[in-house]
Amino acid sequence: MRILVSNDDGVYSPGLAALAEVASEFGSVRVVAPDVERSSSGHSITATRPLSYRPTNIGGLTAYRVNGTPADSVAIGAYHWEKVDIVLSGLNIGFNLGNSIWHSGTVAAAKQATLLGLRAIAFSAPASAEPDFEPYKPWLRQVLEALLHEDGPRLVNVNVPREPRGLVWTRVSVRTYDGRIVPTSDPMGRTLFWFSTHALESAEEGTDRWAVEQGWVSLTPLGLDLTDGEQLRRMQSSHPLDEGRAVAVSPPRSSPQAVRSVSEDESEPSASTPDGSR
Ligand code: MN
Repeated sequence: MRILVSNDDGVYSPGLAALAEVASEFGSVRVVAPDVERSSSGHSITATRPLSYRPTNIGGLTAYRVNGTPADSVAIGAYHWEKVDIVLSGLNIGFNLGNSIWHSGTVAAAKQATLLGLRAIAFSAPASAEPDFEPYKPWLRQVLEALLHEDGPRLVNVNVPREPRGLVWTRVSVRTYDGRIVPTSDPMGRTLFWFSTHALESAEEGTDRWAVEQGWVSLTPLGLDLTDGEQLRRMQSSHPLDEGRAVAVSPPRSSPQAVRSVSEDESEPSASTPDGSR
């Protein structure tokens, strides 16, 4: 089994070393990760400059440090290593529960793998776990044993609390959000702002946050389709638009030119010359 390991805390994170070590019991491991910490970088990619990587060494294991984001690192790793079976991201220093999956680079690295058609698991531990990840290794092993079979889920977000009681399947807790702007000031008295997070508790039963509060390892299967199916059905029936015509048009308007035109409009144009030509 070929296991690509990445993270968002940077290639030298002790959490990554712990995950890579456990993963190597299950197959051949290659580490490709950001050269510096890119926590909270979400699913950003580097599209306005080229990427490069350098070999390095973490705990006797060859690794590659990429001057890009977690998603960049997974893309570069998958490009250079044929037939990757699964991508593991983490072990992040700090939980990724509930709405934090929107900001998480750890989860984004796993999502990037899924976009590339690969299976992936994101792993997070308490922020206070650093620097001793030894107690978490048996739980990483248990999670991999539970997930590394043929019909395992495509994308899973795993959070490992301190001294777990066992493993449970969960859903994402999205009822409350922990992001908050906190004003402060610089030495000159000018106002600055922290985009900070505050502690949440008492999440709904069955969610990732609830599970970790109760001391369970939380395993949340994630999907990448953000469509709100319930709202879509409600709006289609209460406020129908032109869907009927859109699917009934014959012959379809879509053409190779139309497909290319939309595709070109998804990315920024290349730099213009002073006379306006590209
Ligand atoms: Mn991180």
